[in-house]
Amino acid sequence: MKDESCLFCKILAGEIPSAKVYEDEYVFAFRDINPQAPVHVLVVPKEHIPCADAIDESNSLYVAKCFEAIAKIAKAEGLETGYRVINNCGEDGGQSVQHLHFHLIGGVKLSEKII
Ligand code: 5GP
Ligand code: ZN
Repeated sequence: MKDESCLFCKILAGEIPSAKVYEDEYVFAFRDINPQAPVHVLVVPKEHIPCADAIDESNSLYVAKCFEAIAKIAKAEGLETGYRVINNCGEDGGQSVQHLHFHLIGGVKLSEKII
């Protein structure tokens, strides 16, 4: 289901251009407009799930498909020595776009660790 006011729904619909790196029935992935590393891809379900807190048994297949896509994209982007996957959830988590997405970050030795 599309949310008319959602930036990533507009990108999924092709109403806002993006640099696509991967697409299948469940998942769309594109390069972050403000990359934090040489590889910074946003992996987005093709369903308007607002945040990680809204994942439940009705939509969790999309999450599984996102992680299947992440493994494929990481290989295609040459991230064989590792990478980081980040999800920001809610106000305190620093989420700025209210459509579930996973940041796939790599292409450099990542130093900062929160956990
Ligand atoms: P969040 O802060 O919600 O975890 O991540 C949102 C991400 O979306 C940010 O890293 C930001 O740079 C990216 N972003 C925001 N607007 C656009 C856009 O129009 N196009 C692309 N490709 N990325 C965007
Ligand atoms: Zn959306």
